[in-house]
Amino acid sequence: MLTFAQLNAYDMLSNEDILQFRADFPILEETIYGKPLVYFDNGATTQKPLQVLSKIEYAYNHLNANIHRGVHYLSQKATEAHEAARSTVAEFLGAEKREEIIFTRGTTEAINLVAFSFGEAFCKEGDEIVVTVMEHHSNIVPWQMVCERKGLKLKVVPMNETGELDLQVYDSLLNERTRLVAVAHVSNVLGTVNPIRQMIEMAHSKGIRVLVDGAQAVPHIPVNVKELDADFYVFSAHKIYGPTGIGVLYGNYDVLNALPPYQGGGEMIDKVSFEKTTYNELPFRLEAGTPDYIGSTALAEALRYVSAIGLNEIAVYEHELTRYATEKLNEIEGMRIIGTSENKSAVISFLVGSIHPYDIGMLLDKMGIAVRTGHHCAQPLIDSLNIPGTVRASFAFYNTKEEVDVFIQALRKVVIMLS
Ligand code: PLP
Repeated sequence: MLTFAQLNAYDMLSNEDILQFRADFPILEETIYGKPLVYFDNGATTQKPLQVLSKIEYAYNHLNANIHRGVHYLSQKATEAHEAARSTVAEFLGAEKREEIIFTRGTTEAINLVAFSFGEAFCKEGDEIVVTVMEHHSNIVPWQMVCERKGLKLKVVPMNETGELDLQVYDSLLNERTRLVAVAHVSNVLGTVNPIRQMIEMAHSKGIRVLVDGAQAVPHIPVNVKELDADFYVFSAHKIYGPTGIGVLYGNYDVLNALPPYQGGGEMIDKVSFEKTTYNELPFRLEAGTPDYIGSTALAEALRYVSAIGLNEIAVYEHELTRYATEKLNEIEGMRIIGTSENKSAVISFLVGSIHPYDIGMLLDKMGIAVRTGHHCAQPLIDSLNIPGTVRASFAFYNTKEEVDVFIQALRKVVIMLS
């Protein structure tokens, strides 16, 4: 896995490239309260390119029939498109087999699936699950639920003041009772890119499985699940320029194959009788009900779109944008950036003096600038920092330094108004 220092700066996208890509995103032309939209809330969800939007329209106009088991032409075409999308996702993540890709409703459902099924199959009273202090609620609550149900304990890896995980404590938490580690590849609050490969190696050396929450990683850095040796890797389509309502669970085939079903009904069955039901093979066994076959087709299009630009190129460009914005933000008096790791993705959380983040977000909005404020679904992290929340600017490759300048100018005005 490349670190930012290893990414080739010559792969930098030019201003012309960015302008060309921006033309693919009609929403970026919107005006908000009469001001041009500056969309810096990409960590929450990304905008969709025309290519993805027209794929959705095409799929409904030409490929819409319920998939699997249909003998008629349209059903077969829709099935082919859905299964081709599975192959596209497998290739995108560097998975060995297409059966290792399970479509879910998103990151949250993927984690809930693993927490339930892995918990059922592999966990017993007294066992432990390790998470980190910087997890999104979606990578905390499902584990708490399984802890409650099965009598497990949740252990938490702390971090240092720059927002990097304490690997010594991490190592000390991995013991014979630990069944699984659940960790974010990239923090949605701090932007820290965690040393996932090393963390997986450390866990595997003790026979412990690892689930990586890749929600904030896949849109920003190249990911290869085989190189990482992840047991589970999850992400949401809507954060990588795809539609809402669909996401992905990658699972190593052998581990996935040992999981009992999560939900019942639909294509997950082999044979059903009132006495006994037997279950289908992977990937279908873990996909109950009518799958979002339009969503999968659109997700595949989104992955083709970002792959054509290049994840390396995106990473280098966004890294420079983040560096530039950080430099400009630091010129503002009272600025406190939360999360200052060297290895950071396209997220900047900050506070200014004692101004409440919500007030900053409200006033920026009136100037056409969309940022997110609050706890960012990471209340334990925010509580551990003893702050009321943060303002979060999160970037995509379609954002520009000019937009950063507009944001900084607006923020300066807001700070004067609120000081
Ligand atoms: N994990 C992380 C790190 C996230 O940033 C998010 C969303 O913000 C999620 C999980 C949950 O994603 P979703 O709501 O798409 O399931």
